[in-house]
Amino acid sequence: MPKSGRCLCGACTLVLAGPHNWVGHCHCDSCRRATASPVTTFIGHPNGHWTMDGPIGRYASSDGVERGFCQGCGSPLYYRSKRYPDEVHFYATLLDDPAAVSPTVQFHAGETLPWAGALTTLPHG
Ligand SMILES: [Zn+2]
Ligand SMILES: [Zn+2]
Repeated sequence: MPKSGRCLCGACTLVLAGPHNWVGHCHCDSCRRATASPVTTFIGHPNGHWTMDGPIGRYASSDGVERGFCQGCGSPLYYRSKRYPDEVHFYATLLDDPAAVSPTVQFHAGETLPWAGALTTLPHG
């Protein structure tokens, strides 16, 4: 079953068909700023097996790197780099069912925020 997803306002949609290359967390400073979140979870998905539609804006966050976002609501949509020409990295939490994927790897662990490990273990407020 293809996995569908959307931005916050719903104007941008995506469909990922077939198997992902990988699912993993990124702890890097750039992803943190791009998403304003302590951890960013990506789906590496092969080109030719995804579709994306809507008012997509593009930002060159560094040399050879493009980050897509919805021009309507500002939601981050994807990360694409010349270093990975055969795949696009989509934000897993855009999926209609983010629980349908299971991260199995993490990147830039050296940049992990000291409190990121406790995200689900704090007392309930
Ligand atoms: Zn939107
Ligand atoms: Zn990153």
